[in-house]
Amino acid sequence: MSIDGAVWHPFFQHGTEPEPPRAISTEGAFIETDRGRLLDAVSSWWVVTHGHNHPRIAQAIRETAGNLDQVIFAGLTHAPAEELAEALVGMAPEGLSHVFYSDSGSTAVEVALKMALGYWRHEGDGRHRIAVIEDSYHGDTIGTMSVGERGVFNAAYDPLMFAVDRLPFPSGDGAETLRAFEEMAASGRMAALIVEPLILGAGGMRMYGADVLRGMREICDRHDVLMIVDEVMTGWGRTGRLWACDNAGIAPDIMCTSKGLTGGVIPLAATLASRRIFDAHRSTDRRRTFYHSSSYTANPIACAAALAQVRLWQESPMQEVLDRLGDWQAERLAKLAADPRFENPRRWGTVAAIDMKVPEGGYLSEAGPRLRAHAMDRGVLLRPLGNTCYVMPPYCVTEADLDLAWDVIASFDL
Ligand code: PLP
Repeated sequence: MSIDGAVWHPFFQHGTEPEPPRAISTEGAFIETDRGRLLDAVSSWWVVTHGHNHPRIAQAIRETAGNLDQVIFAGLTHAPAEELAEALVGMAPEGLSHVFYSDSGSTAVEVALKMALGYWRHEGDGRHRIAVIEDSYHGDTIGTMSVGERGVFNAAYDPLMFAVDRLPFPSGDGAETLRAFEEMAASGRMAALIVEPLILGAGGMRMYGADVLRGMREICDRHDVLMIVDEVMTGWGRTGRLWACDNAGIAPDIMCTSKGLTGGVIPLAATLASRRIFDAHRSTDRRRTFYHSSSYTANPIACAAALAQVRLWQESPMQEVLDRLGDWQAERLAKLAADPRFENPRRWGTVAAIDMKVPEGGYLSEAGPRLRAHAMDRGVLLRPLGNTCYVMPPYCVTEADLDLAWDVIASFDL
């Protein structure tokens, strides 16, 4: 079937893009396609952590699927969801005590926003404004687009989006952002701040320091603003620690996780909330119920996959793995940074990014699709964000695999 068949692909311009290769099987850091093997240097949109088709996760899926499939989660419960919730609370930053399941990063964020607004309503406080950081990305639903950056991706839907209060990206020491946030928070109108911690992924792998994240937490504390941390991309080790929050030693009021939650095998998301948020909804008054669900909430097979993934964190030397990968990435990034055709090298843990110096930057820069095609022809799956190239591999990647990814970028004719 050609690309003009029935499938409408995501983030794919059917008017210009060549027919994509067809994936046939996956293993470790690689995707086997009908045109050859591809190194998955972007962890398939940042979801794959331990490697494709990890035997323990695959086994958990097989075992659960033979026994328990989808069951309604409103008024019914099951062991995979309960065990996973216990485990997540045990691993999450201090004080996050309750786990609400959904199916994707976007829904995890929607849930977080609803929890925050619900909290203030049930507290009898009229706060409802949300503070966001410039260039953020939190998903593609109407609510998550509203709290994300506005631009070419979502201009057509602008009439549907709600207003938020925007803060500048924390460049340098982040002082300007913190000053602006302090002023905003002091207005007494802010319900919550939502942030991608340390790395703004889709916004161009823009990175900022742990002290800025800590500063945001302090301001939230001073002015009683809820802090929502979107760990959908950063969670499960990407920044060199289990959670990006761990680098700053902070705990949010609400935290979103998805992508690596199941090791990138099957969709699942969780929004973790502190007791204060949960208790504001717990009542004899049914109007305070948290009215949110989706049909597949807490799918047992997905929960079992996530539990197997969590056990890998508990039983393997993951910190060593992350440190080693971080060092490998640092070496390769430093080498490319010496090439005058590139600028702004940056890294947090296992995620490394650099910009191509081209006359036209930004998301629609032609350099992006050209580099993607160049890499694909050489057996590497890259997905530059405009003129920003980044490498975010699964943790099972070898040094030789990494060389392949970075050599492909270095050999690109800008
Ligand atoms: N939040 C962040 C920080 C993300 O990077 C993404 C996706 O890339 C999302 C939310 C949305 O996740 P999903 O695509 O699973 O809806």
